[in-house]
Parts: sequence; structure tokens; C-alpha cells
Amino acid sequence: MKAVVIGGGFSGLATASLLSRQGIEVTLVEKNNTLGGRARVLEEKGYKFDMGPSWYLMPEVFDCLFSSIGKRRPYELVKLSPSFKLTIDWKKDIVIYPDMSDNKEELNKLEENGFEKMERYLEYTRFMYETAMKKFLYREYSAPGDLFTREVMGEAVKLGLFSSLESFNKRFFKSEDMLKLTGFASVFLGGSPDVIPGLYALVNYPIFGQGVFYPKGGFGKIVEGLVGDYDVRLGEEVVKAKVKDRKVYALKTNKGEVDGDLFVFSGDYRWLDQNVLPVGYSNYDEGYWDTRVYAPSAVLAFVGIRDSIDEPHHHIVIRGDWKKHFSAIFNNSPLPEGLSYYVSIRSKSEQGLAPEGGDSLFFLIPLPPGFNGDSESIAKKVVFEYLEKHGIREVDYIRFFTPREFRLDYNATLGTAFGLAHTLSQTALFRPSMRNRRLSNLLYTGQYTHPGIGVPMVIISAQVATQIVVSQLKE
Ligand SMILES: Cc1cc2nc3c(=O)[nH]c(=O)nc-3n(C[C@H](O)[C@H](O)[C@H](O)COP(=O)(O)OP(=O)(O)OC[C@H]3O[C@@H](n4cnc5c(N)ncnc54)[C@H](O)[C@@H]3O)c2cc1C
Repeated sequence: MKAVVIGGGFSGLATASLLSRQGIEVTLVEKNNTLGGRARVLEEKGYKFDMGPSWYLMPEVFDCLFSSIGKRRPYELVKLSPSFKLTIDWKKDIVIYPDMSDNKEELNKLEENGFEKMERYLEYTRFMYETAMKKFLYREYSAPGDLFTREVMGEAVKLGLFSSLESFNKRFFKSEDMLKLTGFASVFLGGSPDVIPGLYALVNYPIFGQGVFYPKGGFGKIVEGLVGDYDVRLGEEVVKAKVKDRKVYALKTNKGEVDGDLFVFSGDYRWLDQNVLPVGYSNYDEGYWDTRVYAPSAVLAFVGIRDSIDEPHHHIVIRGDWKKHFSAIFNNSPLPEGLSYYVSIRSKSEQGLAPEGGDSLFFLIPLPPGFNGDSESIAKKVVFEYLEKHGIREVDYIRFFTPREFRLDYNATLGTAFGLAHTLSQTALFRPSMRNRRLSNLLYTGQYTHPGIGVPMVIISAQVATQIVVSQLKE
């Protein structure tokens, strides 16, 4: 049997590795000249950057993947300490360490009995996380009965499935600072704290309970660990699928053709579904796609400086009323003056990522999906304000990555950085299906599908897709 995987991001790489471990001959086709998708690597002028993911969470998901493909994890994991810093309006810094007891004083300053409340919150979110890992994540949802079982319904209220993350968090915390601390992770899920379901508070267990890890060598090292067992065709864009007898039998690319018995789309679901499949074979129509809630787009800035900056590896900066920023992203209201953003300084955790004595900084500023304003000016303002606050006057290297580049480089619908937001109506069964309804040998993986956004999630989507293939082979 021969499988063709479209897309060399984490979902495509994981799918290709898992299928080839099953003895299937695999070819992976990627439109860019390097692998990794959103997790590509940028190296220039002595500075090295990961272009996308930087938070290594849920380490057991990566371990499970490497053990499933019969490999040792090819990189060392370092638990970061501090885990991260949250700065609010340049007035307050909250620094969180992986050992919760080291945060006692800090949390008690944010709210009366903040530490005990956080301990209770983590007990609860740990339960949610472990339940999700055991019962909800590593499985396919194809019918309402898969999700709304008596057991799940029984646990749904307890899990906060039907409330928002914000109202779930308010069950534990009162102060604005604590709500920010336990709400910022909603951006990882492509939503705002008042919209994404409370179920996703489970992501706070890895962040606060397990700790934030750093893979030595960066995310590019993980990508390297997932190649080698199958054929890769780089710089080749899939443009049309050829279909016969309810099956895809070949893909036309900008360089030729590739045939196969099984096909997996792991790029932008909407783009592939609407552009590559012949009329009548798409899983969803324009009306469906137009009513989805897309995750934010973003402008990124990669900045090299000759000086060293005194900040930890992960720094989140909240500016002004963050609800106005969320509202601009999801409700089309104007962007506020002060935008919140995230800075990753990998050079704090590894040498050789910047010239001697310098640092490499990565800025992520969330923007509305479909944004077509001047994102570079927005990024410049943020970058220079940040550097000025740290007494840095000179930039040695700077490169922006705009919403337009998300569209051009990854075929990202509306230039979304993360795919589809995690709203209640876009969770589990309600995310776009992993199977094509009209073509029996076509599957979809990646951040649009269940379980969703983030490297661990898209790796799980690859595991689920592989389970589907294995069970189909047994039929
Ligand atoms: C800036 C940023 C920061 C992030 N931070 C984190 C983080 O800290 N931690 C975390 O866990 N997650 C993070 N994420 C999310 C995570 O990176 C993604 O959810 C995940 O990498 C998506 O993987 P994917 O395989 O679904 O898609 P992609 O990585 O987009 O891969 C899809 C691939 O398909 C290719 N493709 C598209 N169309 C075609 C075609 N027609 N022919 C051939 N190839 C095609 C694209 O070029 C792309 O390489 C971040 C994302 C971004 C953008």
C-alpha cells in the first residue's frame, strides 16, 4: 500500500512516520522548501529562531509518538525555571516557577489565599487533563453518540464543558490578576477566555502543574527526529486531486503527479477541501466555512540584538484592557492602542542562538483573522517599545512575518496562525471531520481537526488518523 501525505507540518510529519511504521510506503509532499510547517526554523546573521511553537507542553504526547514509531526522543528536555513571566501594563511582573511551592508568596500577593486556591485549581485541572488524555483526546468523533455518552454527560458539568474558561476560572479566583494568569492560555487555543469552553482549563495543568519544557535544539530538532523513514518531496504544491470510483487515485502538483492508495491532507483544511478536490467532493461548502470562528492571525517579529536582555525564556506582556484586544480579534472592533503580545527568548536557554553576548527574540502579536492592515508598523511599535523598556537601542537583525505570509507560505485561510478557534461548537465531534464523506481513501489531520490547535494536539490527530487507517486495513 502507498500513502501520500500532503503537508510537512507536525501533523503531516507525525502521520507519515506513524504510517510508515505500519509498513506502508509513504510519500510526503510539502510546498515549502523546508519541513516543519508553522514550526520552520529561521537562521540568519548568526541568529537562530523557531518560527512558530516555543512552549513544549504535554511531554507525554511527544514521548508516546516517539515510542509509537520505535525511536528514542532525539533531544534533551529541560524544565524551564522560571516557567514564564507575565507583565501587566509594565506595572506588575508575575514570575511563575515550576515548583508551585516557590510561587506561594507571589500568588498570595495577587489574591487572598491565592496559593491555596491555585492548589485546588490544579487538583481540578489535573483531573480534567488526565480524564481528557484517557478518554477524550486519542479518539475519533464521528457521531453525536461518541461525545454525548451517559458517562461524558455525567462528567460534563463537573468538567465545566458548558461554561466559558473565564466563568470556570471565576469559580476559583476573584482578582483580575489571577484571572489573567489562568486565562492567557486561551490564546494558545485560538480563542478568548470568555468564549472557549471551560473544559480547556485543562491546558493550565501542563503549564502550572507539569512545568514548561524546552527541547534542546528547539522545535526544529523535533522536526528532524520525524524524518528519515519515508520519501519527502519538498517545494512541491498539490493543486488538484484525481478521483475515480469514490477514491482519490493521484494528486497533480506544480511539478508533476503523485499516485497512491491512501491520501492524508494535513495542510489548511479549508484551502485543500475547497481548492484541491473536484467539485462535489469537498467535505464542506462555502456556507459552512464562512460561519466558522477562525483563530487569530498574527504578525511575528524575529529580532537579533548584540546586547543581552534580562528576561526569561517566555515573557507575556499584557497591555491595557485585553478584552478590547480580544474583541478586535473576534468581533471586528478597532484594534486598541496597547496590544498584548508574547516574547520568546530561546537564547536564554541555549547557547549559540545569537552572536556572543547577544540575544535572539521572537515576538508574537495576535491580530484578527483576515487582517490586511499595516502589520509591520504594528510589530515595529511593539518591538521598539519592548527594547526601549529594556534599555536596548540597537537592533542588529529584524525580520517580520505578516498575515499575508501566513496565507502565501501555508495557504492559511484568512492568514490564520492557528486554524479554527476552540469554541463549544468547534470542539470534538464539531470540528471538521477527519474522514472525507465521499472519498473513502481520504483523511484529514492537523490543527483544524480534533483535538485541535498546538503541536501535541496535531500529533494526537495523526495518531487518531493512523488508528483509522489500521482499523480500515483490518476490515
Ligand atoms: C507563531 C505560532 C506560535 C505557536 N506557538 C505554539 C506553542 O508554543 N506550542 C504549541 O504546542 N503550539 C504552538 N503553535 C501552534 C502549532 O504550531 C500548530 O498548531 C501546529 O504546528 C500546526 O501543525 P499542522 O501540521 O496542523 O499545520 P502546519 O504546520 O501549517 O503544516 C501544514 C503544512 O502543509 C503545507 N501545505 C499547505 N498546502 C499545501 C499544498 N497544497 N501542497 C503541499 N503542502 C501544502 C504547508 O506549507 C505546511 O507546511 C503556534 C503556532 C504559531 C503560528
